[in-house]
Amino acid sequence: MLMYSDSFEKETFKETVKDNVKALFRKQIEEATPQQIFQAVSYAVKEIIIDDWLTTQAEYRKKDAKTVYYMSMEFLMGRALGNNLINMTAYKEVREALEEMNIDLNVIEDQEPDAALGNGGLGRLAACFLDSLATLNYPAYGCGIRYRYGMFKQKIENGYQVETPDDWLKEGNPFELRREEYAKEVRFGGTIRFEKDPETGKDTFIQENYESVRAVPYDMPIVGYGNHVVNTLRIWDAEAITNFSLDSFDRGDYHKAVEQENLAKRIVDVLYPNDNHYAGKELRLKQQYFFISASLQALIAKYKKHHDDIRKLYEKVAIQMNDTHPTVAVPELMRLLIDVEGLDWEEAWEVTTKTCAYTNHTIMAEALEKWPMDLFSRLLPRIFQIVQEIDRRFISEIRAKYPGQEEKVEKMSILWGGQVRMAHMAIIAGYSVNGVARLHTEILKGQELKDFYEMMPEKFNNKTNGITQRRFLLHGNPLLADWVTGRIGDGWITDLSKLENLKVLVNDEQARREFMQIKYKNKVRLAKYIKEHNGINVDPRSIFDVQVKRLHEYKRQLLNILHIMYLYNQIKEHPEMSFYPRTFIFGAKAAAGYLRAKETIKLINSVADVVNNDRSINGKLKIVFIEDYRVSNAELLFAAADVSEQISTASKEASGTGNMKFMLNGAPTLGTMDGANVEIVEEVGAENAFIFGLSSQEVINYENNGGYNPVDIYFNDWELKRVIDQLMDGTYSGGDHNMYRNLYNSLLNTQCTDRADTYFILKDFRSYVEAQKKVEAAYRDENRWSKIAMMNTACSGKFTSDRTIEEYVKDIWKLEKVGVSLVQPE
Ligand SMILES: *Cc1c(COP(=O)(O)O)cnc(C)c1O
Repeated sequence: MLMYSDSFEKETFKETVKDNVKALFRKQIEEATPQQIFQAVSYAVKEIIIDDWLTTQAEYRKKDAKTVYYMSMEFLMGRALGNNLINMTAYKEVREALEEMNIDLNVIEDQEPDAALGNGGLGRLAACFLDSLATLNYPAYGCGIRYRYGMFKQKIENGYQVETPDDWLKEGNPFELRREEYAKEVRFGGTIRFEKDPETGKDTFIQENYESVRAVPYDMPIVGYGNHVVNTLRIWDAEAITNFSLDSFDRGDYHKAVEQENLAKRIVDVLYPNDNHYAGKELRLKQQYFFISASLQALIAKYKKHHDDIRKLYEKVAIQMNDTHPTVAVPELMRLLIDVEGLDWEEAWEVTTKTCAYTNHTIMAEALEKWPMDLFSRLLPRIFQIVQEIDRRFISEIRAKYPGQEEKVEKMSILWGGQVRMAHMAIIAGYSVNGVARLHTEILKGQELKDFYEMMPEKFNNKTNGITQRRFLLHGNPLLADWVTGRIGDGWITDLSKLENLKVLVNDEQARREFMQIKYKNKVRLAKYIKEHNGINVDPRSIFDVQVKRLHEYKRQLLNILHIMYLYNQIKEHPEMSFYPRTFIFGAKAAAGYLRAKETIKLINSVADVVNNDRSINGKLKIVFIEDYRVSNAELLFAAADVSEQISTASKEASGTGNMKFMLNGAPTLGTMDGANVEIVEEVGAENAFIFGLSSQEVINYENNGGYNPVDIYFNDWELKRVIDQLMDGTYSGGDHNMYRNLYNSLLNTQCTDRADTYFILKDFRSYVEAQKKVEAAYRDENRWSKIAMMNTACSGKFTSDRTIEEYVKDIWKLEKVGVSLVQPE
């Protein structure tokens, strides 16, 4: 069957779907449920993908092309069906074919659970990178974990977040392929015995009394846009080494056999739901070593199949470590090269340090991975020995370079204070260290990693994050995508810089009217979703002000809701005051154990209850909390947003990528000069954004001088004081004076362990109020607003992940493009 738009065979496709429904469910298509049709359509699509997948991999083999392995604990993929159809340029054709059978593709797409194998930005970045790598014809693997349960599903009950398991594999995953033949063994614990090989005289290390787990890979196809390239996301499942231990069974030890099985399965049970936070759990380290060891064994085996000199691995392989989570790759690669491949230390070190590169994603202290040495050495005894040796050698380098400066050892060594500092290992062994936005990289070089930067400046570089326009415009906002194509052609789909051709249209009244009509239709689409999911009526003519992202104190959802409480007070106090109707939309999951984050969710929902049900304000204010924010409903939100809330405390958000998705969809940034917001303002112009608050340098200066005193502000700003007092006076808690005590204390009170108002909410409050007033004034002026909105789309070209990937390729990975011929294998 042919599928791409240039050769779509509609009737064959329809027959295949019908046949699949019969074969899979013993039903006629008229009797099938939407879920069954989803399965049938997906298998039909997969059939096509498999041919391209085979061709692509054969082509890579023939060209002997260098491959990047993107190692990540998280891949926040979202749904596959719609995205695959988009990239196969068959979306509209399939929609029509299904329509002829009275089937709505949107309904079918909604049957697919999101593959939510990630928390937020870091995991979504990995997913966007895979899309861009395939689209740009680069050989690449994503390597990760096939979590049995992904990111939890969020329910809101009585205003509180309730977590339920995400059983995403319940109905099976039509796109994955189990690769039994590539299973690997991964060993934990035990002891290391040291022996001299009697023949070679070399030291050998023998691990004994270990537990081992079988890693089985599942491959998911990553379809490039319109180029017939199909790359692979390889995620690992864990099984007991013998599926059911016959040994134990024979001896009647049924329990032990079952325990073995349970132990193995537990490793990949669940994704840790922490964003930007390190918890130090043993199982997490197990997960890290599990998928890294399996991935490295597989990539070495693949390399050796066609190359005989492992010393030249780096000529064919680049390994990118997405944050410190996969950095155990450094000592594991050393182990495989030394203990298994027989290289000596210097040879192995050369290979490792020419192969591994590291991306830093945060400067926040609570996010840095520091494993207790006793835990680390007990779980990974041989790996720990290797880390000790890397550290020993690095410390002598420090002492040679900085004689007498022992503080440098304290600051830069890997092992210190009983801990293994993973970031240090990644920087020492990596040939590249990159930050994820210009400001973030400058802060790394100038503050957090200053000593490393001074010692090895050549390693440091910036790679400003990006997003894929195929998902976040072409799929997520079909009306705008079609309009853009109608105006400037479809080149933007693979070259987003083309959007700059829209700039001339900013002065075309007709074009602006069309642009805003599309925004309005997308707001109607979202209003319908909100009515269905929240039971709230929102007016699509009001300003849709949207903050969707993980719930975290540094992202300051609290600042947003305090401002809404302030507006509500204003409206109540001055009913005659002119006020443009606003709909404030939130979406956010809080880590299950993050108290203040959960209290913030409750506060948002409680303020929503009071405000939405106050008929005296004539619907001027509405507040909506979108349950279970995830990639699939995110696509609706970006398309419908008027205002993009990017209000993190300056210096805390390394980049942000949500900000880019809003910009692409024509929503201006209301934000601080943080992360990639800085570059967004640079591209779009300060007149097309709403910037407020302390600068990153001001924040850092306060921090270096013991913080600031929010109490002064509190007592000198009675309107703000009133809002903060409302956290405690029962206004939003049905009279309960303790419901928001943690939040109140975090802002003012020294009763909590950290400083008061660590995230400068009071300090930035007035500046935020002013910026919000400017938003309202700009929105009232329809001409001005439509220009601002269009300029944001027109200037968003830089923020495609295609640009980011081309920079990684040029500066770090050094890959060549590989074309795939359109001829299908017979
Ligand atoms: C883009 C995205 C994020 C990251 O958003 P930020 O605002 O950059 O934190 C998180 N979750 C989902 C579902 C996303 O699509």
